[in-house]
Amino acid sequence: MRSDKDSDNLWANTARVECGASALRDDITADVLVVGGGFTGCCAALQLAKSGAGVCLLEARSLGYGGSGRNVGLVNAGLWLEPDRIERILGSAAGVRLNETLALGPAQVFSLIEEHGIDCDATRTGTLHCAHSESGLADLRERLRQYRARDWNVDLLDSNETALKTGTSRYCGALWDHRAGTIQPMAYVRGLAIAAMASGARIFEMSPVTEIVCKQGQWVAATENGSVRADAVVLATNAYHQGLRHDARPSYTPVNFFQVATTPIDDEIVGSILAERQGAWDTMKVMSSFRVDAERRFVLGSVGSLDGFGRQVHCAWARRRLEEMYPAISDSEFEFAWSGRIAMTSNHLPRIVKFGERALAIYGYSGRGIGPGTVFGTSVANYLLSGNGDDLPLEPVGAHRELLSKFKQIGYELGATGYHLTVSRGAR
Ligand SMILES: Cc1cc2nc3c(=O)[nH]c(=O)nc-3n(C[C@H](O)[C@H](O)[C@H](O)COP(=O)(O)OP(=O)(O)OC[C@H]3O[C@@H](n4cnc5c(N)ncnc54)[C@H](O)[C@@H]3O)c2cc1C
Repeated sequence: MRSDKDSDNLWANTARVECGASALRDDITADVLVVGGGFTGCCAALQLAKSGAGVCLLEARSLGYGGSGRNVGLVNAGLWLEPDRIERILGSAAGVRLNETLALGPAQVFSLIEEHGIDCDATRTGTLHCAHSESGLADLRERLRQYRARDWNVDLLDSNETALKTGTSRYCGALWDHRAGTIQPMAYVRGLAIAAMASGARIFEMSPVTEIVCKQGQWVAATENGSVRADAVVLATNAYHQGLRHDARPSYTPVNFFQVATTPIDDEIVGSILAERQGAWDTMKVMSSFRVDAERRFVLGSVGSLDGFGRQVHCAWARRRLEEMYPAISDSEFEFAWSGRIAMTSNHLPRIVKFGERALAIYGYSGRGIGPGTVFGTSVANYLLSGNGDDLPLEPVGAHRELLSKFKQIGYELGATGYHLTVSRGAR
């Protein structure tokens, strides 16, 4: 198994396209500056460029360096929270607006992939939310009730049907969301950036923004070797925000999530494992995800960081979990092991923070950013073009601060490590 460096991320190693953007070495002007080259920033840049706006995107490292290039690749509809809860938190009108907009997230992702010919191993056979216990199944039944009340295309599978779809008998049922699918996430984000560049966006990598100030009605962003002056700015740095001490910097609890990927598995053996290539996750208290990539690697993930002591604990858990779920592949070597940071907010809802005139920061998808990042990035671009607040899926706030995020972060990490240390062999 390789160590946890950027180069040990499966998706960075297997994406077939490169962007090849250079660093900013000039003072330039644009209509809109986008900071951050993940799904949110690239979708905003793409939509702005397609509409004829002059857009410049600055990425501190390489495109997809943040959560967008490290995630599981499950293109889900909506957020983690059940739709009823979202409507309770936001109120009916705002909640319905957010639910309805995010329900269309997967369709928007797959239509961008098709429109721009993005080569990212997209599958559209749905996702499976698998129940690890009777209480997990009760939770899925309640979700089914809420989804069906909104006419969303989902089915509840029994234990036999779930075993047939997943190839393991560990689960007592699964919610099959037909709207969803999977992607190779790094290839998707690079594909978005390439499409944005082809539409006229100027994109620079290795160009961390160190300062943003408003001067005479214009936003000026500085990098080490250049600057961008623009009428509007989108801060899309989420959980990977770095080096820019601005009031608008995202405020969230960082939650680590790691994944391991086996070496490619023989067709004969892998044939019964997620044969239709749904991506899956479960209802366990410390959630785990599983899927198969385009080269038939089995990819397993859960909460936790691979730094320090955690690495041994989480990887040992992954090995045990593989033995429990799929004994036929339990000897497979883990070829890749990497982790990433999720930006979690206290109510698990994202935020749009308006930090000045035509200046918005977007973050806090709380673990669901492929559909939501695509929707929010595109919507923010539409809003900047039209000036119409109805184009936004969520009302912007003036400021947002998460309290006690350091303590909560430690709590998540200790909880996941303790759970992975103690979870008993053979337990569901
Ligand atoms: C391990 C993991 C698994 C996940 N699984 C899923 C999943 O299966 N499905 C799903 O929907 N969501 C998933 N998510 C969530 C999803 O990946 C994120 O919500 C999403 O990628 C956020 O996208 P973004 O563009 O907002 O931010 P990011 O992708 O994090 O991009 C932010 C970018 O900003 C750049 N940046 C930071 N500071 C600066 C600066 N000063 N100047 C210039 N650039 C800067 C960073 O380098 C980074 O590239 C997962 C997340 C993780 C970490």
